[in-house]
Amino acid sequence: MTEAASSDIPQFTVGETVRMRKAHPCGADTWTVTRVGGDVGLRCAGCGRRIFLARRELARRLHSQHRAGAVRRV
Ligand SMILES: [Zn+2]
Repeated sequence: MTEAASSDIPQFTVGETVRMRKAHPCGADTWTVTRVGGDVGLRCAGCGRRIFLARRELARRLHSQHRAGAVRRV
């Protein structure tokens, strides 16, 4: 699967925080990007669970995106 650089699909950067439309069962709705590529790796800010989502799928579930530096969580 090749992912052409398309303007309607947001780009993600490792280390940035994203907010989902729907909260995770643990109650957190923010995730840290841990890997980018064909699939985007995410780590839940609440429980630390790691998941992988296709970038297009993530874009659909995304509520807001925080560029690294704008929102910082440790
Ligand atoms: Zn969680």
